[in-house]
Amino acid sequence: MEKRIAVLPGDGIGREIMPQAVRVLEAIGQKCGHRFHFTYGQVGGEAIDATGFPLPAETLELAKSSDAVLLGAVGGPKWEGLEYARRPERALLGLREQLGLFANLRPAKMYSALIGSSSLKPEVVDGIDLLVVRELTGGIYFGKPKGIEQTATGHRGFNTEVYTTEEIRRIAEVAFQAARKRRGLVHSIDKANVLESSELWRREVIKVHQNFPDVELRHMYVDNCAMQLVRYPKQFDVMVTTNLFGDILSDEAAMLTGSIGMLPSASVGASVGMFEPIHGSAPDIAGKNLANPIGTIASAAMMLSYSFALTKEAEMIESAIQMTLAQEYRTQDIQSPGSTLVGTVEMGDHILKQLGI
Ligand code: NAD
Repeated sequence: MEKRIAVLPGDGIGREIMPQAVRVLEAIGQKCGHRFHFTYGQVGGEAIDATGFPLPAETLELAKSSDAVLLGAVGGPKWEGLEYARRPERALLGLREQLGLFANLRPAKMYSALIGSSSLKPEVVDGIDLLVVRELTGGIYFGKPKGIEQTATGHRGFNTEVYTTEEIRRIAEVAFQAARKRRGLVHSIDKANVLESSELWRREVIKVHQNFPDVELRHMYVDNCAMQLVRYPKQFDVMVTTNLFGDILSDEAAMLTGSIGMLPSASVGASVGMFEPIHGSAPDIAGKNLANPIGTIASAAMMLSYSFALTKEAEMIESAIQMTLAQEYRTQDIQSPGSTLVGTVEMGDHILKQLGI
């Protein structure tokens, strides 16, 4: 197989973690007979410094003409004073919008070697393996009207939660398809007891479910879900929800498993998917070889599986990560008593070694 991958390292630790993911992909390609062509582009703060824009036209063109995009992280204190439309983080919104990425997939999996890193009891978190499917381009973040307006006594701020049949149906399909490849259970999370948009959400999800009789569908209110995630997270397989609820629940799910540096994500929709770790550019540790590259390496594995249907290769990377952790190699964010502290590059070395390269 031959694929073109747009590599956008971005800012801060993005520049350190990305080379480790690229090494792993190169190694897997060599081992399994695939050719991955990597083309680098500028995004976020570094792109602002070079061109004045967080998402230069050249980078967008590169992303659109590639088979998949692998992104590090963007942002940092240097660009915090800029007006909102010029901030590094705008590049992410631009890429999502331009690539038609309406579904954000965030797996949260407990690596058995890291059970001690969770803030919850081992018996609660052992065996967690769930996937949050978040709608990414609709809902209250984009709904109109929105704004802040003057009133007789002060101001009034408002946003609008809007979902259409089409938006709900396509995200529900992504969730049911994902569940088919997993344990066959979807929880649809809404607030249908209060919100009309949620009432429609539930109605449409039920309709889409008719095409997936092999998958079980359960409904849960978002407030109960927030509670169930810390009470008994193992009850979940795939969770599908709106942009706002998904934003909150996916962070909650992430923290069940320990470090933010471990977790990957995928944004899919049209033809080109984008894959990135869930963390930011971590300016506090950037440039020190301290960052955990596992979230980015696991994002590369998701890219193989979701964009290229290379499931076996993705599993090889997953198990190399698992074995490296089982051998007690740890970056500082997941360090525990008795483990061997390693840096970003050394963590990459150990994962490559487990791949037999
Ligand atoms: P952050 O995720 O960058 O860092 C939060 C904490 O987690 C920090 O203490 C950091 O050291 C640690 N951390 C994060 N990733 C790590 C890793 N791989 N290994 C070890 N430790 C890790 O969040 P923040 O500090 O709120 O944001 C910093 C910058 O990143 C801001 O400019 C923010 O806007 C941006 N940001 C970007 C993205 C993105 O690119 N997708 C996401 C979130 C935040």
